[in-house]
Amino acid sequence: MDGKSFDSFDVVVIGGGHAGCEAAAAAARTGTATALVTLKADAIGVMSCNPAIGGLGKGHLVREIDALDGVMGRVADAAGIQFRLLNRRKGPAVRGPRAQADRAIYRREMQGALRARPNLEIVEGEAADLVVEEGRARGVVLADGRTLRTGAVVVTTGTFLRGLIHLGERSWAAGRIDEAPSVRLAERFEAIGFEMGRLKTGTPPRLDGRTIDWQALEEQPGDAEPEFFSYLTSSVQARQVPCHITRTTPETHEIIRANLERSAMCSGRISSRGPRYCPSIEDKIVRFADRESHQVFLEPEGLDDPTVYPNGISTSLPEDVQLALVRSMPGLGRVEILRPGYAIEYDYVDPRELDPTLETRRMAGLFLAGQINGTTGYEEAAAQGLVAGLNAARRAGGLDGAVFDRSEAYLGVMIDDLVTRGVSEPYRMFTSRAEYRLSLRADNADLRVTAKGAGLGLVGAERLEAFARREDALRAAEDVARSLTITPKDANARGLSVNQDGKRRSAYELLSYPDIGLDDLSEVWPELAALDPATARQLEIEASYAVYLDRQQADVAAFRREEAMVIPADFDFDALKGLSNEVREKLKRAGPRSLGQASRLDGVTPAAILLLAARLRGMAPARRSA
Ligand code: FAD
Repeated sequence: MDGKSFDSFDVVVIGGGHAGCEAAAAAARTGTATALVTLKADAIGVMSCNPAIGGLGKGHLVREIDALDGVMGRVADAAGIQFRLLNRRKGPAVRGPRAQADRAIYRREMQGALRARPNLEIVEGEAADLVVEEGRARGVVLADGRTLRTGAVVVTTGTFLRGLIHLGERSWAAGRIDEAPSVRLAERFEAIGFEMGRLKTGTPPRLDGRTIDWQALEEQPGDAEPEFFSYLTSSVQARQVPCHITRTTPETHEIIRANLERSAMCSGRISSRGPRYCPSIEDKIVRFADRESHQVFLEPEGLDDPTVYPNGISTSLPEDVQLALVRSMPGLGRVEILRPGYAIEYDYVDPRELDPTLETRRMAGLFLAGQINGTTGYEEAAAQGLVAGLNAARRAGGLDGAVFDRSEAYLGVMIDDLVTRGVSEPYRMFTSRAEYRLSLRADNADLRVTAKGAGLGLVGAERLEAFARREDALRAAEDVARSLTITPKDANARGLSVNQDGKRRSAYELLSYPDIGLDDLSEVWPELAALDPATARQLEIEASYAVYLDRQQADVAAFRREEAMVIPADFDFDALKGLSNEVREKLKRAGPRSLGQASRLDGVTPAAILLLAARLRGMAPARRSA
């Protein structure tokens, strides 16, 4: 165990993937003695699939992780070899920061960040079983016989639970390519009685960049002014490189159609659901039969690595077909494959087994995070890891759980979706999942969650200082912008077109006009030109959303009122008169924690919610631990 001699920890995290890293770092940040148990220490921070972080919805999650002083944002910035802000031409609420990452740098930086963290021990080994005492998780048994005693366990084993890889006509047990699956832990989970299911995902073949005809391809450069994930990053750290774009051709589609029977995914050998928004190329050809071509991004995996990731063609076709299909695309006529693509099926635990703290309802002290909960994606995993790690630390320390709700953060939206509705396919984040997305923007993640994170002991001094500086500058700028006013007549005379209603407007109000920006106002009020660029940008965004957010306030207040109406754990739904049997059974099975959560359950009617609300109002206020 890295030369140190703990065999007892407050928190033990199983798995060194994206959820595990963030869980272990979060628990340790709160001052909790934490162990991260993983199969291979040098595989900590491995990106199993695409070498990229962020994107639409996902970039929001990374910003929130960063705002809570998590590691993913800083590591992705250090490893970023191409930064792009997606949806740049749309409103700030739906813009998503994304970075192509150098796989090796990402892994190295993540391992460095964890090794440098006080209170965190890395333990190499396979977690084979749990120690359970009086129904509570009290330790982890490793396959080599060691036992780690603990106050709480976080399991983040990704695709490893009974993982089964499919490549063409062949299948074999594995957690990821060249890594063994986790079978004993899956059996233990079954014995505990968790509802479990099978999901699948896939990855494309990796290409040898030295055999690609780059001249024949369209280049896609990164942004001239990169947007970073971390509020603490100020400059690019790695050399920047472009991506390239190719496309499937009629010949590609023909090759795939002719070989569908040889694809594990299409031949019926895999029955579990895969990610709808990240389908295999075989799926795309079958489902969108009328499309003549699909775009394929050729993404470098690293600066000193010839490996190229062809984004958009994950496949489980046999290797000979994979080679033929990639060679049928422009620029890839002579390409060689370094590693074939494959599909993987794995066990997941129905996330309705979890509380919003990500603690399992069946076993106190046991938390689950990441792909094991039916999600897909590094960012989704990391965000859950942070919440699970925080709450495991709080559980070990005898504190109440801490949650982020749907009006505060995307990570709150995701966790509420998971624990309330469960999943029928791998869950990934989208901005459309957030009802309050005008206020849950990537640009203001720190303004939304850093102060709360600090109160929970998650945020270190460096970030707190940086945050205080940014917040002070923004508030000062807002005060100035609100204090500067102008009549409509004068505004018109200065080229600012506003209604001639005689009402004075402040600079802050004028910024909410779509065709008035800070540059225009700086010509009227030179003091606005003196704002530092980052503050000016944030002020502009905040002001442009202010009107909408004022309107949204009432909805958020109503939402919070319903969330605050707690349903006690022992609430007797049978005693609630007027419910249909169907709704009663749904409520009993789901055991919602609040009126708000009950209202989001599929099939629970507004009439049932009114009855429940009336009953809760008549009861003494209840408290649940989260
Ligand atoms: P992982 O990153 O898988 O990490 C699991 C960790 O647990 C590993 O460190 C492993 O060593 C450790 N572990 C497992 N069992 C044990 C044990 N018993 N004891 C100790 N340690 C253990 N996502 C997308 O968004 N799009 C995609 O197209 C996509 N394709 C994918 C294709 C493949 C083939 C795979 C494998 C994954 C793909 N993903 C994709 C998913 C993405 O990789 C995951 O969502 C993300 O890595 C999940 O993070 P995690 O932390 O939950 O698990």
